Amino acid sequence: MASEDEFSLLVIVVDVNPIWWGQQAQREPQFTLSKCLDAVMVMGNSHLAMTRTNKLAIVGSHCQDSHFLYPCKKWRAGDGSGDGSGDDASSSGDGKYELLSVANNLVAEEIRSVMSRTEVKGHSTDTLLAGSLAKALCYIHRVTKELEAGQEMKSRILVIKAAEDCALQYMNFMNVIFASQKQNILIDACVLDSDSGLLQQACDITGGLYLKIPQKVALAQYLLWVFLPDSEQRSQLVLPPPAHVDYRAACFCHRNLIEIGYVCSVCLSIFCNFSPICTTCETAFKIQLPQMVKSKKKKLKPST
Ligand SMILES: [Zn+2]
Ligand SMILES: [Zn+2]
Repeated sequence: MASEDEFSLLVIVVDVNPIWWGQQAQREPQFTLSKCLDAVMVMGNSHLAMTRTNKLAIVGSHCQDSHFLYPCKKWRAGDGSGDGSGDDASSSGDGKYELLSVANNLVAEEIRSVMSRTEVKGHSTDTLLAGSLAKALCYIHRVTKELEAGQEMKSRILVIKAAEDCALQYMNFMNVIFASQKQNILIDACVLDSDSGLLQQACDITGGLYLKIPQKVALAQYLLWVFLPDSEQRSQLVLPPPAHVDYRAACFCHRNLIEIGYVCSVCLSIFCNFSPICTTCETAFKIQLPQMVKSKKKKLKPST
């Protein structure tokens, strides 16, 4: 069992992309963003209730920004464990564990303000998932630094993914994945809609679980059964078999998934066609091309 000096931090990253959720509400009125957040709160509450030393953070991933839904700013100003519970709080008087109702109220309040103050501008319709994951990593790093000597913390990130992958974020996303791997932070993914190649890789590399849930309305159950147990407990459970991982990378020129391509030796950008200058880092490659170019020219001349 966990001792008093062992903390477990769970950071839940929820995709709150307003465009996707707007379409979803029309497709399936029985599963809306508020239902999803209900399930997230059930998961968060369960995690907090498991052990007194468990910690929780929830990040909302919007298409323009990432917001901490919990702990929110006035809480994070302290160490997130004490102050704040008095003023804002619950006092629901229904016998519910106060910490849980405080958390739920804060999340509900924050998500309302996020959704009301952001307006979707122009073309930015992709969820900024890579940015949210980076924020989650920074938060984990900060909490880790605040630990006292002798205390240890295990951290993991759970992504609840709704909208499609964004190939533009490929580079940032991979950087975040490798950073988590180095820090021994698991990334789990619970995918609501279309499969995500990026998250499949994230889970595979960091040792997390990837699951595309067959029924969205049953989200809370999947969260509790599959994602609530930590990595040690999981080895004793029969969980859904691992997903087939699509390890193809997206080329930087057309965002197509390719199996074989050209890689810039300086910045590791991937291209489906050869180009003498990398479009990402502008490195010019000194490859012995003259012969090729000459022969091409010779061939081309007669035809033009
Ligand atoms: Zn391409
Ligand atoms: Zn390059």
